[in-house]
Amino acid sequence: MEHRQNPVILTIDDEENIRDSFRLFLEDFDYRVVEARNGREGLQLFEREQPDLVLCDLRMPEVDGLEVLATLKEQAPETPIIVVSGTGVIGDAVEAIRLGAWNYLLKPIQDMSVLIHAINQAMERARLIKENRAYQEHLEAEVARRTEALQKVVGELNSSHRQLQEKEEKYRSIFENLQDVYFEMQEDGLVTEVSPSVSHFSCYRREDVLRRDISQLFPRQKNREDLLTRLKNSGSVTDYEIYLQDKDGTMVPCSLNARYQGNSGTAKICGTLRDISERKQAEARIEHLAYFDALTELPNRRLLLDRLEQNLSRAHRYGHYGAMLFLDLDRFKNINDSLGHPVGDALLKEVSKRMTQDMRAEDTVSRLGGDEFVLLLSELGDDPGNAAVQAQHKAEQLQVRLAEKYHIMGHELHVTPSIGVAMFPSAEGAKESGNDILRHADTAMYRAKEEGRDTIRFFLPSMQSAADDRLAIEKELRYALERNQLSLYFQPQVNADGVILGAETLARWQHPEKGFISPATFIPVAEATGLILPIGEWILRLACRCLKSWADQGTPVPHLAVNVSPRQFRQPDFIQQICSILDETGAEPSQLGLELTEGMVIDNIAETIEKMQGLKQLGIELSIDDFGTGYSSLAYLKRMPLDVLKIDQSFVRDIESDPNDAAIVETIIAMANHLDLKVIAEGVETEFELDFLKTKGCKSYQGYLFSRPLPKTEFDTLLKAGTVKRKD
Ligand code: C2E
Ligand code: CA
Ligand code: CA
Repeated sequence: MEHRQNPVILTIDDEENIRDSFRLFLEDFDYRVVEARNGREGLQLFEREQPDLVLCDLRMPEVDGLEVLATLKEQAPETPIIVVSGTGVIGDAVEAIRLGAWNYLLKPIQDMSVLIHAINQAMERARLIKENRAYQEHLEAEVARRTEALQKVVGELNSSHRQLQEKEEKYRSIFENLQDVYFEMQEDGLVTEVSPSVSHFSCYRREDVLRRDISQLFPRQKNREDLLTRLKNSGSVTDYEIYLQDKDGTMVPCSLNARYQGNSGTAKICGTLRDISERKQAEARIEHLAYFDALTELPNRRLLLDRLEQNLSRAHRYGHYGAMLFLDLDRFKNINDSLGHPVGDALLKEVSKRMTQDMRAEDTVSRLGGDEFVLLLSELGDDPGNAAVQAQHKAEQLQVRLAEKYHIMGHELHVTPSIGVAMFPSAEGAKESGNDILRHADTAMYRAKEEGRDTIRFFLPSMQSAADDRLAIEKELRYALERNQLSLYFQPQVNADGVILGAETLARWQHPEKGFISPATFIPVAEATGLILPIGEWILRLACRCLKSWADQGTPVPHLAVNVSPRQFRQPDFIQQICSILDETGAEPSQLGLELTEGMVIDNIAETIEKMQGLKQLGIELSIDDFGTGYSSLAYLKRMPLDVLKIDQSFVRDIESDPNDAAIVETIIAMANHLDLKVIAEGVETEFELDFLKTKGCKSYQGYLFSRPLPKTEFDTLLKAGTVKRKD
């Protein structure tokens, strides 16, 4: 405990001798003693000296002892005060104790040891009290400190708990009010959490999805697998497009954002899913606006050029032709100016409707603006002339269709188109751009206008004349049969010694003005227009009549081969047609042969084989013409009921010069032998070719070396001789 040098004792007594005796006595115990003669002095001294103990008399002049007690109790309750009084009145003693005296000694003090004992006791008690109080204070301070700390912690805890709660509430409300869907799933696709919002864009409720596999929502396996691999590989996906299948089967386009968390095997995937139907629709609308004309809904120039470029590259790759028809309405401006734009617009809409009528899926009708329309024709085949004719046909069809009357807003209108046509590629291997073609067609359209409107013009004069010629041929071919301009020639087929084994029939067209027109020219036209059907039937009938007459004459032809075109062969009643011709003419079916081409037997193979079997059952011999130029695989050939392979003349022609072709010919012969088929070589012109074919095992020949195709009378003469002499 902290001490001043010596403890200080204040004695307050009006009797000097008592004060002295106390002082003398107490100084021996190392106390310092200060003295006051009355209460007032005592209180002043107390204030100044702050004594450790007070010895105080009760009866004093001025302020008496009880007053001192009362004051000190208030000012310094912990300072021990011992009353030393001579009154001996019990009431005084009680009052003194009540006012805070620690002890009460009676004067005169006989035994001073009583005094020192009382003093020491009081001092000790005071010390203990002080100590106790200090300890108490320390304890209280400690408690206060700890309480404060605790309160702080509790406060913090409370606030973080509150924050947590707020957060939790916030997340819950987000989770529950989410527009998007929040989900968690295992790596194997089991959904472990999903927000109620899943019902916003599907008929599923949260319970329908929870603890289920995502394949229920995303049935497209490839889509799903792709998503999981991406997640695994890059850890996350953003804006991944996936289709959600609703309960009723509708597909909802969604954008998925997800993150892969943890290690493979125990990983979890968290993410969100957003319905993007509206975005998709908006995109589609934007795309529509970007690629389609607002008035007519037709593809615009941009889309047209796009498709044209695709067409061009396909045309180059596969070697086929296409056409672009550029239409401009004649005097449309007059209608617009005199009747107003609403009428003009309605007319354009009607024109666009007529233009798209029975359009092929692969073609495109486009409006470039104003009264300019374009028709893009794709894949018109690999023959430029034929393609030009098809383009011309289409243009004529449009010309007729657009010229029909229009009834618009009470007006009866009549318009005609001027049409420019550009073929592409313009020549074999030409590398034009879409814009080039469009310009060509535009130029051709201006020429059509110059030539008096309501006209069709081709960009290239060569195409124009090809189209003109083909059209002329087509027109005239329609009358060729009834005007007796068609006839049949016969080219002998012989063995190495020139003995006639049979013949091939070849059609001829003798035009009154143009002279002889090659079947290589008119047969494709007949095929394209369908005229091949009456012409082919006529040829078959004539061939059968000839067979019959040769048999009747006693010079039977063992075998007469008739060429059959694809369209003819594909007629559903082709077999019936042949039956009735055989019946009608009385020709022997086993003497009739049909030459088919590879292309027509490869298409629709099951039906073809059935038809061929039907023909075989009639006893007719079947051969494959131009063998080697098509794509027949051995596997197909094996399945077909064939009798003869006819080696194409292009190989025969090059036997001498091209070792490749020689090898091909050799292979075809070997293959025919292997498949147990007869083989005949056509276009045999030289002894060298004949020798080669002979040594390789070919036994039948046809070609100028033996004979050109002959008219019937000349062939009759040959038949009578039975053999043909080779030209030297
Ligand atoms: P194809 O069926 O390959 O007929 C053979 C062609 O080669 C015939 O031409 C014939 O005159 C010619 N030729 C024959 N031997 C030789 C020769 O040694 N050297 C040369 N350079 N050529 C020879 P053609 O008569 O002009 O017939 C051409 C094509 O027209 C025929 O080719 C055939 O595809 C078609 N065709 C002819 N007549 C008919 C027919 O009646 N119906 C059908 N559908 N097509 C026919
Ligand atoms: Ca032939
Ligand atoms: Ca041939």
